[in-house]
Amino acid sequence: MAKDTSIKCTMCNRDKKETKILIAGINGHICDNCATQAYNLIKEESAGAQNQQVQNALTLLKPAVIKQKLDEYVIGQDEAKKVLSVAVYNHFKRINHAAKTSETIEIDKSNLILVGETGTGKTLLARTIAKLLNVPFCIADATVLTEAGYVGEDVESILTRLLQAADYDVAAAERGIVFIDEIDKIARKSDNPSITRDVSGEGVQQAMLKLLEGSVVNVPPQGGRKHPDAKMIQLNTKNILFICGGAFDGIEKKIASRLNTKAVGYSASVTDSVIDKSNLLQYITPQDLKSFGLIPELIGRLPVLTYLKPLDRAALRSILTDPKNALIKQYIALFKMDGINLSINSDVLDLIVDKAIEFKLGARGLRGICEVIMTDLMFDLPSEKTTVKSYNLSIDYALNKLNNARLSELKVA
Ligand code: ADP
Repeated sequence: MAKDTSIKCTMCNRDKKETKILIAGINGHICDNCATQAYNLIKEESAGAQNQQVQNALTLLKPAVIKQKLDEYVIGQDEAKKVLSVAVYNHFKRINHAAKTSETIEIDKSNLILVGETGTGKTLLARTIAKLLNVPFCIADATVLTEAGYVGEDVESILTRLLQAADYDVAAAERGIVFIDEIDKIARKSDNPSITRDVSGEGVQQAMLKLLEGSVVNVPPQGGRKHPDAKMIQLNTKNILFICGGAFDGIEKKIASRLNTKAVGYSASVTDSVIDKSNLLQYITPQDLKSFGLIPELIGRLPVLTYLKPLDRAALRSILTDPKNALIKQYIALFKMDGINLSINSDVLDLIVDKAIEFKLGARGLRGICEVIMTDLMFDLPSEKTTVKSYNLSIDYALNKLNNARLSELKVA
């Protein structure tokens, strides 16, 4: 009897002839079929274990630890960081609680709303928290949203972005974080509900409710209505954390009138003396959002409300150098890749901050100002014939570059 034909897969007993590849081990053989099945099994198991690990990691991060991590990337904004840390901590406690117990107490979602001038770190906070938790994250702009059936994007398109950020892994997307920017721009125009349709304002707010409250939403995989035949993907928004941000220009007036700080003379409020009028946002309440034009149902689904302070000179200076991926650290790293040790005099850093304040560019403007100063250096130094080992950026050089630049070029990123 020919010996060769008796070689079989030790796992499935298939004959060598029935397999594409039969891999020999010390005491047996495994066929391609069994090897593939084993591989898939291992992959599935380890994905499950990884998910479990992520879940555990999420619950293990206590609010104080979350805040500490945020401190590494975001300057100041202590109040917002604290509120966000607690909201995120509770959010993941809620998810685990729902998974583990059959108790009847259902913990509400802690979707948030961040109020603060543009460029104060609202998006940065949301992005940093998502990175920290290693969950899919996307940013959506409320101004492009319209009520279903009108020109613009349907609210479901927000979830398309989240799915894309999660590489179409539905389970991962269902634990993601969505940042909806410019939520104030969909405020209804007047406090009175109008009889005529308010397509871009109240209609969108209504449409957003089903996303925020936690329901199964049919999401077009490619977004938009360009692919009407595409099969919808069902996404449950129950465990998606929504963080909304907005500048709410002029809301201080509404806060002030609620606090009655405008009253003068004898009618002045007794609490007047303790109110810090330079930062009225700290007194913001859901009631002010309602007077601004958000509908109560939407406010109810964004139960956690906090504010960001305008950035002062010290904060801007710190943003340049202190965060883990601070701008100046990035330039130093870029030069290092060319073998050049870049040092920057501290009066240059002060100058950059001065210009950002002078042109009212805020934190977003810092990058543009740095680019104006650095571009020629980044062009010339790597190409010099004699290799430059170090470069000290002086105030004279920086002033020269800034004076020669048309400052209108300093685009806000
Ligand atoms: P917002 O969403 O409030 O309009 P962003 O978070 O997009 O503002 O901020 C714009 C940029 O300014 C950020 O990418 C970051 O570089 C910088 N920035 C703003 N605020 C801070 C802050 N508090 N700490 C560190 N960097 C900040």
